[in-house]
Amino acid sequence: MIGPIPIPAAGERATGRFTFAGDAGLARYEWPYIAFAGASRGPTFLVTAGIHAAEYTGIEAAIRLGRSLDPREVRGTIVIIPLLNRPGFYERSIYVNPEDNDNLNRLFPGDAKGTWGQRFAHHLLTEIVVRFEHSIDLHAGDLIEELTPFVGYRESGDATRDERMRAMANAYGAKWVVKSGATGERPGMMYAVAAQRGVAAILAESGGRGLLIEEDVARHVRGVTNILRAVGSLAGEPERVAPPRAVKSFEWLRSPVEGIFHCRVAVAQEVRTGDVVGDLTDLVGEPLATVTAPTDGVVLFSVTSPAIKKDGLLLGIGAL
Ligand SMILES: [Zn+2]
Repeated sequence: MIGPIPIPAAGERATGRFTFAGDAGLARYEWPYIAFAGASRGPTFLVTAGIHAAEYTGIEAAIRLGRSLDPREVRGTIVIIPLLNRPGFYERSIYVNPEDNDNLNRLFPGDAKGTWGQRFAHHLLTEIVVRFEHSIDLHAGDLIEELTPFVGYRESGDATRDERMRAMANAYGAKWVVKSGATGERPGMMYAVAAQRGVAAILAESGGRGLLIEEDVARHVRGVTNILRAVGSLAGEPERVAPPRAVKSFEWLRSPVEGIFHCRVAVAQEVRTGDVVGDLTDLVGEPLATVTAPTDGVVLFSVTSPAIKKDGLLLGIGAL
């Protein structure tokens, strides 16, 4: 067992569902898993997806990995949890978990006595995530976001772990990497807290807009497979891929007003400081605000829905 997840005999694959039996609110749900026990010794590796329930390419890629990996080629233990935000999936929840309308990926390390999401974060982190040497959390742009593929990790301050995360990020095959310092950046995110707790943890983003575009799913499958080979969880030589370029910071632009957003840039487009990246009008078309790039950089994601609340997220620019 790794926490509530049974691990099969050496050389075998098993699927099933687990729950967190000690918490009545969590135990109303069951989470799917696919577990592999290698025929030979090797690392422990956790693949998760669907902490944002409408980021379907990550979920689909995790499921596909669970069906396509050959247990005879696995070394050590691989566990795949394809859908963390179980309450949100059939509700098509954007960003949040419908149990408490919080973003699950802002609640780590969680709280055993807190809200549903805080308790889930606590149990997931302490019973499962920290038992692994490596982890990757698969994301996409949410139902109302598009993005250009990137990977990310938060440095831990431990040189060995940071080097492991760098090697994992380099093996995915993305063009960009968002690397956060070992400071207060990215508070509450699962991969960041996992890295602080001893796991070589990264995230990867591919796809978005609620679309299961094959190229986006295949990118995740290929990227994770290559990382598994690079860390020794899977037999075979890793494919040589170009390492990603690091952005200096990740600037998330939010709207100063409620209004209709007209995005004037595309994902992957490079912008200069002061460039107009979009504007907002009211419901009779009167101009309300112009949004400009705060830095030179590349547009890593943008929101595709024009309906924006005050302080609503608009787009993310990786500073260059
Ligand atoms: Zn996400």
